[in-house]
Amino acid sequence: MKEKQSNRINAKVVLCKCPKNKRVYGMRLEEQGGDWVRTWAFKLDEAAAKREGFDTETTRGTMRPTLDYPGCPYCGGTSLNQCKCGKIFCGKAGEATCPWCGTTSTYSPVDRLSVQGGGL
Ligand SMILES: [Zn+2]
Ligand SMILES: [Zn+2]
Repeated sequence: MKEKQSNRINAKVVLCKCPKNKRVYGMRLEEQGGDWVRTWAFKLDEAAAKREGFDTETTRGTMRPTLDYPGCPYCGGTSLNQCKCGKIFCGKAGEATCPWCGTTSTYSPVDRLSVQGGGL
């Protein structure tokens, strides 16, 4: 399934939501030096995302944005919060409401995120 040759890029797309408009978007992750980083983000409609059936395995990494990462296609943000429900969304540390499940809590910066590919 997964090719680990050094001349191949190991990349996947995970889903994120923007709290600004509660819209979903795709985030391209790439494995670099044993870590997963964010290289691209693009608008996605939920129906397409469902059809796509993204990888549901959990990906662990810092998810730091690369220099050319464009930010969220809706709000331009590059910071992420991870809710207790396991989903990720745009936002900085502090109080925020998860656009996936509606839980409001106080978030703190996380070193590493574990995100699931699918699960709309
Ligand atoms: Zn956003
Ligand atoms: Zn949530």
